[in-house]
Amino acid sequence: MKAQVAGETDELKKQGITPGLAVVIVGDDPASRVYVNNKKKACELVGFKSEEYALPAETSQEELLELVKKLNEKKDINGILVQLPLPKHLDEKEIIEAIDPIKDVDAFHAVNVGKIMIGDYDFLPCTPAGVMEMLAYYDIPVSGKNCVVIGRSNIVGKPMAMLLLHKNGTVTICHSKTQNLKEISAQADILVAAVGIPKFVTADMVKDGAVVIDVGMDRDENGKLCGDVDFENVKDKTSYITPVPGGVGPMTIATLMKNTLKACRLQNNC
Ligand code: NAP
Repeated sequence: MKAQVAGETDELKKQGITPGLAVVIVGDDPASRVYVNNKKKACELVGFKSEEYALPAETSQEELLELVKKLNEKKDINGILVQLPLPKHLDEKEIIEAIDPIKDVDAFHAVNVGKIMIGDYDFLPCTPAGVMEMLAYYDIPVSGKNCVVIGRSNIVGKPMAMLLLHKNGTVTICHSKTQNLKEISAQADILVAAVGIPKFVTADMVKDGAVVIDVGMDRDENGKLCGDVDFENVKDKTSYITPVPGGVGPMTIATLMKNTLKACRLQNNC
């Protein structure tokens, strides 16, 4: 995906157009710092212009809104990404709604969320879209399959379920109030874990031959990066399984590059 974006970017540059992504990070959350650095590196790799705005944790709502407004107006910036979570005193919803929907390369703005709901969209949220890319790349059929998504956040679980539904999956969404979660997940042909609890999905929750997608980015008891799936004990039951690290994380970033390129094309009518 990155090679494809890089190739198209080269062509655009010949017309004097360089896609630009602005990444805004507030505070010093170490995980967010890592994500932002990875996004910057990916921009360099595909030939985008990238701007980073690293703001102190005590930044006010007004200051952040002012920056978003400035970035909305900047002609050389096609995509704006505000790294979440924001510090507690800031109103995430208001900040996201302040981003011009055509620059909302995360697809978190209500306009873009609504478009996804009706299946007529410019951008898809990066993590679920990256998962769909993987399924398509490996020719894994979704139509008619039992798809179970554990997690219902606005950024992963809900859009993930919607994209599987658009591909004609029979989708069940589970969450912290779900009863009989084990029984439900064990019926899944495609199981997506987006819970945020290390090794939450155990072997008894997985059907033989299932496709298991691990969205989780968690830390185990030794502080090591791991997923929501107990990979070692689950892997032999599956037909496909994504690792952590690897798997969904890099696909998320590749999709961000693709979305930024699309935003650039839309803004330049090219
Ligand atoms: P989130 O907003 O905290 O949502 C977690 C979801 O899991 C909620 O819907 C919650 O249910 C559900 N849940 C919690 N405990 C549960 C339980 N015991 N049984 C069933 N469901 C339970 O998290 P998120 O933002 O969606 O992220 C989920 C994970 O993905 C995290 O590890 C995050 O770091 C990772 N992530 C990775 C990427 C990537 O690029 N790879 C991108 C984004 C997120 P309720 O709604 O009922 O509370």
